[in-house]
Amino acid sequence: MKRVYNFSAGPSMLPLEVLEKAQAELPNYKDSGMSVMELSHRSGLFTDIITEAENLLRDLMNIPENYKVLFVQGGASQQFAAVPLNLKKSGKADYVNTGSWSKKAMSEAKKFMEVNEIASSADENFTYIPKIEASMLTPDADYVHITTNNTIEGTAFRDIPDTGNIPLVADMSSNILSEEMDVTKFGVIYAGAQKNIGPAGLTVVIVREDLIGNATEHCPTMLDYQTHSESGSLYNTPPTYGVYMAKLVFEWVKELGGLKGIQARNEKKAGILYDYIAQSDFYASPVKEDSRSIMNIPFIIPGRDLDDEFVKEAQAEGLETLKGHRSVGGMRASIYNPMPVEGVEALISFMKKFEQKHQ
Ligand SMILES: *Cc1c(COP(=O)(O)O)cnc(C)c1O
Repeated sequence: MKRVYNFSAGPSMLPLEVLEKAQAELPNYKDSGMSVMELSHRSGLFTDIITEAENLLRDLMNIPENYKVLFVQGGASQQFAAVPLNLKKSGKADYVNTGSWSKKAMSEAKKFMEVNEIASSADENFTYIPKIEASMLTPDADYVHITTNNTIEGTAFRDIPDTGNIPLVADMSSNILSEEMDVTKFGVIYAGAQKNIGPAGLTVVIVREDLIGNATEHCPTMLDYQTHSESGSLYNTPPTYGVYMAKLVFEWVKELGGLKGIQARNEKKAGILYDYIAQSDFYASPVKEDSRSIMNIPFIIPGRDLDDEFVKEAQAEGLETLKGHRSVGGMRASIYNPMPVEGVEALISFMKKFEQKHQ
């Protein structure tokens, strides 16, 4: 069977073990004579799947009792609107601008809120994470929004800012489940599934209970956290197959030692790639050292016009989707949880070969 190392930023690689389990269970799930895709979302079998998915996620992330886990649709992009519609009180919100996804979150929020950009790394092309001090916060802000991992620029918050009594909201789409994270620091965490959780179509929202039930009058029912909270994510048909796949991925993460185990593996993967880039005088990393993502690693070949050739030759060797985002250029290796260490080693040996050829 042909399998490549897929460095796509999302949708991205899934663990082969998970795909094989899904394949084996596909036509006849638990002797029901049906696929999970064909099960009623109100059936006992699906209730078991969604309950188990939630329990596994709670266990992996150590989510406290006073937080709800919602399985919804619409992607992280829909949460850009859902967050202000649920949290709006004074009508002011603080945003940290760390790149493309932050900017999209901000422009959506501007439809509903007075948005204050309290910090930005636009001055250096989003190659670093600005430091957030308490003095920067708007005292009566309804929330502070950050993008914990910047998928396109390859930066990540190494320290989560302390926002005191102001709820901290995080777009964690591209680094949820990649490392240990203290959920109690956040009011809302949201993530599209297609990077570290499962197939596209599912969105996970983790929200503190006191932030539920205060949606603005004109908030659509489907965007109101209360709708999904009080129905156990079964107000309407949830993305059932996505929830099932997420459950299989959560089981896989648990088997690898939970977030502690997966973090060690991710740090090792990112470490060997950054180390190789650092000692090379052919490749360079555009990202400041203290702001580096361990999920998305952009790199460039300074002063040479070799990007297209690199991407093409890598693809011929089973190293897929290494082209950098069109807004940044160069290359980008997205090495989410399912990427094995061997995949990163294969990338490094290709980079060495390519470097030698073009020195
Ligand atoms: C991929 C991504 C998004 C967009 O997610 P959708 O589910 O496609 O809406 C938003 N934010 C970040 C950080 C992402 O990586």
